Amino acid sequence: MIDSDSNYKVDLARLAPGFHQRRFQARGVGFDAFIWRCGPGPVLLINGATHGDEYEGPTLLRQWVDVWKPAMLSGTVVMVPVLNEAAFFAAQRCHPADGGNLARAFPGRTNGNSTARLAHLFDTALLAQCTHYVDLHSGGGAYELLPWTGYFTHTRSVDKAQRAMAACFDHFWCWVGPFLPGRTLSAAHARNIPAIYLECRGAGGIEPRDLQALERGLKNLLQWTGVLQGRKLTLRKQKTRITRDVDEAHLQVHHPAPFDGLFVSETALGRQVRRGQPIGKVLSLDGKQSAVIKAERTGCIVLVRYQRSVRRDDALFTLAPI
Ligand SMILES: [Zn+2]
Repeated sequence: MIDSDSNYKVDLARLAPGFHQRRFQARGVGFDAFIWRCGPGPVLLINGATHGDEYEGPTLLRQWVDVWKPAMLSGTVVMVPVLNEAAFFAAQRCHPADGGNLARAFPGRTNGNSTARLAHLFDTALLAQCTHYVDLHSGGGAYELLPWTGYFTHTRSVDKAQRAMAACFDHFWCWVGPFLPGRTLSAAHARNIPAIYLECRGAGGIEPRDLQALERGLKNLLQWTGVLQGRKLTLRKQKTRITRDVDEAHLQVHHPAPFDGLFVSETALGRQVRRGQPIGKVLSLDGKQSAVIKAERTGCIVLVRYQRSVRRDDALFTLAPI
């Protein structure tokens, strides 16, 4: 039996033990949250669809809601399968009304556009109440990614927790970098909440093995936080890259398309390439221009543009030294 209600704010600590559904909404924006509550303890918050065209997180979390009936919990688990509903129903990365990228809008504002108001609502109504946070992303409709997890470096104690959280997702490699503004993780960072993100493959759909890897990671994380008791954790060793370069893991800045046109990839996800090696090209539709895209650095292809129509400055590849 679901206990259901709509609220501007829900004090998780005052909820009765059990399973609750709550609609968080304010000033014309909102989202549904599913809450498993069992007294004091860690509060783990997980969401999908910060970007509207990324389906792995929403699919895992929404299916989880129907089947997860834990007999015993310590603490609270909150799942928001689809945070950015307007972008989700528009099947696009950004908000259809204002074009805003929710992953650049945090901590948001009460008097801003829809994207800013949604960021503010999520930050103040839920992030502020959690002890651990996970944001589920993917390549979406435009990109194909070599699945990874990651976080922003923080203080030693927060980093220790973030490293352990990321290690729970042991079928993903791990990319650690400096703080970037505007993300959900930036808001968690400001609140000193250990936070990680996941990036699944994307390419417009869902790989079943990505869902399995996510689910395995989530179960590991529930145990690591102490929310669930169970078997001793046995984790695979995780390949980890730590960088101080703010641009390294900033996916939108690498190998920009020099003009509008058709993108042709001449490499593949996971392939090792050398700096200067041709890895793709962009062809203008009028037949007058063609540009060879050369690898900016030596490394592994971890992101490839999947959508073949490109606008000038759209990122085409990201390489990581892994
Ligand atoms: Zn995303």
